[in-house]
Amino acid sequence: PPIIQAQNLGKTYRSGKLEVPALRNVNFSVERGEFVAIVGPSGSGKSTLFYLLGGLTQATHGSIKIDGVDFAHLSDSERTRLRRSHIGFIFQRFNLLPTLSALGNIELAYDISGLKAPMDRHLLDHLSEMLNIKGRLEHRPNELSGGEQQRVAIARALITRPSIVLADEPTGNLDTKNSDVVLAMLRQSSKEMNQTVMMITHNPEAAQIADRVITVRDGEVVAIDLGRSSMDIV
Ligand code: ADP
Ligand code: ADP
Repeated sequence: PPIIQAQNLGKTYRSGKLEVPALRNVNFSVERGEFVAIVGPSGSGKSTLFYLLGGLTQATHGSIKIDGVDFAHLSDSERTRLRRSHIGFIFQRFNLLPTLSALGNIELAYDISGLKAPMDRHLLDHLSEMLNIKGRLEHRPNELSGGEQQRVAIARALITRPSIVLADEPTGNLDTKNSDVVLAMLRQSSKEMNQTVMMITHNPEAAQIADRVITVRDGEVVAIDLGRSSMDIV
């Protein structure tokens, strides 16, 4: 099956009598290794789609399947297990724990993943090299630049070899130069490890390097386009 499949997916927030339809009738499939940018104006439903993809909120219509498994058919603990084994998260504000070193943050993410095998030290070396943080692993987040923090956060997301990486505005707190570096590294590492990336972004460069661009407006997917990078291949 496709690694991600959304079918007639919808979400309506309810608080008391008030109903806020945030997403409706969303249909798409994503294959392993694809790099997908999700774009759209503020309030269009991007964050809601991110939460649904991560199994962090329940769909009110339709289904979202990860590797053929519908989140809705799982218990809370099964959903948590699926999330930890299949999905890596990257956030706009990096969300590194301030009291731990870069390495400590990566190790903690591995420890709570529930994976039985010990952390793959070769993979850690490889990621540190590729993300250019080798000399930074003993530093705490407040001793790192924004770009370095986000590259540590990418290593943290990838250390469990997730099949899906969900990124919410990963370059939103970075200057142009760091944004370009972080995006290029995220693309390279995910391609190398055949990981699907679903990235919410306002960064026009991101849409340029994506394989596909999903445009959301007023709660609906209004376009699914080939990104520039796939056009280069075609
Ligand atoms: P951004 O899109 O800038 O990241 P948010 O995702 O935090 O901002 O919020 C997007 C929209 O959702 C905003 O209009 C915000 O007011 C609304 N929103 C977020 N959380 C809630 C909530 N708990 N109740 C009602 N509206 C919310
Ligand atoms: P975006 O990420 O594109 O800014 P959101 O998914 O945050 O969009 O919001 C989509 C719509 O859902 C908006 O109208 C927003 O106000 C509403 N919304 C988001 N979160 C909540 C919530 N927790 N409760 C009620 N309404 C919400």
